[in-house]
Amino acid sequence: MNGPRSGDLAARSLRSVWHPCTQMRHHETSPPIAVAHAHGAWLHDADGRRYFDAISSWWVNLFGHTNTRINNALKDQLDRLEHAMLAGFTHEPVVALSEKLSTLAGHVLGHCFFASDGASAVEIALKMSAHAWRNAGHGDKREFICLQGAYHGETLGALGVTDTALFREPYDGLLRASHVAASPDARQAQPGESAADVEQRALASLEKLLQQRQGHIAAVIVEPLVQCASGMAMHGAAYLAGVRRLCDAYGAHMIADEIAVGCGRTGSFFACEQAGIWPDFLCLSKGISGGYLPLSLVMTRDAVYEAFYHDDVRKGFLHSHSYTGNPLACRAALEVLAIFEDDDVLARNRVFAEAMTEALQPLAHDPRIANFRQAGMIWACDAVLDGQPGFSRRFAAEAARNELLLRPIGSTIYLMPPYILDQQDAVWLAERIRRTFDAVMEAA
Ligand SMILES: *Cc1c(COP(=O)(O)O)cnc(C)c1O
Repeated sequence: MNGPRSGDLAARSLRSVWHPCTQMRHHETSPPIAVAHAHGAWLHDADGRRYFDAISSWWVNLFGHTNTRINNALKDQLDRLEHAMLAGFTHEPVVALSEKLSTLAGHVLGHCFFASDGASAVEIALKMSAHAWRNAGHGDKREFICLQGAYHGETLGALGVTDTALFREPYDGLLRASHVAASPDARQAQPGESAADVEQRALASLEKLLQQRQGHIAAVIVEPLVQCASGMAMHGAAYLAGVRRLCDAYGAHMIADEIAVGCGRTGSFFACEQAGIWPDFLCLSKGISGGYLPLSLVMTRDAVYEAFYHDDVRKGFLHSHSYTGNPLACRAALEVLAIFEDDDVLARNRVFAEAMTEALQPLAHDPRIANFRQAGMIWACDAVLDGQPGFSRRFAAEAARNELLLRPIGSTIYLMPPYILDQQDAVWLAERIRRTFDAVMEAA
């Protein structure tokens, strides 16, 4: 599929680059696409082919590639300060970003701890939770509850609260076990059950675990509104309010992993806002830097911060990463937040979302499609397959032939586009998805 120049680069890549989340052998038949340059929603290869980035390059890109505003902010920052250690030093971008985020979180989550990737943010939240309990004299609270189908990243600690067999199994025995509560995934409704009934069932399952392990649970970790990596499983805001209530009742922290769903992805800046609650820890990454630079952070409350504030160094949170609070990444994030404000992005997304949902109606009603669903700037549906191994890879390859970057998760086709599209884009996207889907199903 790749032409001579990009084909050459792909071949070199396969000799020296070990690609992530990939069975490298699959590249024997479908080599990686060599991106030469990009602008807006479009990725271009060296041979003049283009691909519409309908999944925001693994959910990170919010305002298009080579965005003029973010580019200019970074150029300015490059000539001021590229990096300085954050222990014993501070700088304007990290301070301004922490202040802005705190304001967005109603000053409830007023303390930001920085890292570089999502999995590290999850590790920090888990460690901080258990350590805060220990400092407060509750050293027995060292266990965690995650949800069925949860995904929180792939380092050993994050995998310990991840319930995706494919990612976990090879490392069984290396991982610390956590408790798994039922998922509120609306698709699990039994005949006659509503989505709200499923959420109630999931809350009952969570409460049972909290009861059984009372005094031992440090935190419950959830992906608010959408469990993305397990196939865009969606639930309502009432479920989150229920988790908050149960965590309060049983003395456990609530960790909201908003790495994928934060930054406006589900319609509000933070997904938790839709439930009218704040967690004790909120993890952000992916979109926060606009898809430019690795940046993650954990926001937490005064009570947690104060549990570490002490004369004894061992009661401090001694965690660190070399690039903690990198000024370039923070400056990109500040520009992202400025764009949200200046362009009223959340309101603009609501208008686009209506157009996108409308354009997808033929697909939504296709008999070969089930569970069409949407939350903010995420659309998903499940292909009804019998057998058809390799559906996801075949779909991705056909999508590329139709100028689309789309990679289904199993049988779940989903869209997570950048926030820069208009109604025409929606119509074009829907048409190309349908064309791709028809071709894949006819070839089966
Ligand atoms: C992507 C993701 C992570 C992990 O982030 P990385 O930067 O890939 O380590 C954790 N949690 C959720 C919900 C994610 O979507």
